[in-house]
Amino acid sequence: MKSIGVIGGMSWESTIVYYRLLNQYTKRQLGGHHSAKILMSSVNFAEIEAFQRSGDWDSSARILADEAKKLEAAGADFIVIATNTMHKVANQVQEAISIPLLHIADATALALKENNIQHVGLLGTRFTMSQPFYKERLEQHGITVSVPPEWHQDVVHEIIYQELCQGEIKAHSRQQYLAVIDELQQNGAQAVILGCTEIGLLVQQNHTDVPLYDTTDLHAFAAVKFALEEK
Ligand code: GLU
Repeated sequence: MKSIGVIGGMSWESTIVYYRLLNQYTKRQLGGHHSAKILMSSVNFAEIEAFQRSGDWDSSARILADEAKKLEAAGADFIVIATNTMHKVANQVQEAISIPLLHIADATALALKENNIQHVGLLGTRFTMSQPFYKERLEQHGITVSVPPEWHQDVVHEIIYQELCQGEIKAHSRQQYLAVIDELQQNGAQAVILGCTEIGLLVQQNHTDVPLYDTTDLHAFAAVKFALEEK
């Protein structure tokens, strides 16, 4: 079994979910007392969030690259960055290490392709929805992506930072998300990606008929699959 190196803490509210899912999927595969081999580095999200706000992605890339190097030195066989947004600096992190980085958008695209989904709606932070780094990665898999209009992006973004990353789950915010999800479907999306690792804390599949792809779940599943592969 490979050791999974997790760069977490962005936010820790969703890293907890990763930790649980990595172990649950490992147990589901191997049974008994099996659990995942995990090395985790959990950063201070306040530092990362401040760099996001000021647009200083190079400084946050340096922090994540340093953490990835520590995990590699400690024996991790591959790395997962437990947030969608920070995949903006995934290439810089990959360049700093000689073990593979399992990209969250690749894990998501794989699941979409398995279900023949060609056009998706994307929810996430404003960075993830409005900048090309994430959408382009999906498009490389032949998937087309639409995002909510700007004023709805603001609502989705603010709820992530003001509530979900701080452990606050509010029914009113769930209704707002569900309205945006419906709108994406009405505009042609076959499914909607929960492209922020905290959204699954607020919205789950039982809240809507629109097919949801939760990136936290798909990333953890892909990580366990890779950890348990022969080589
Ligand atoms: N965890 C979130 C994501 O998946 C947002 C927090 C962050 O900016 O890292 O994008």
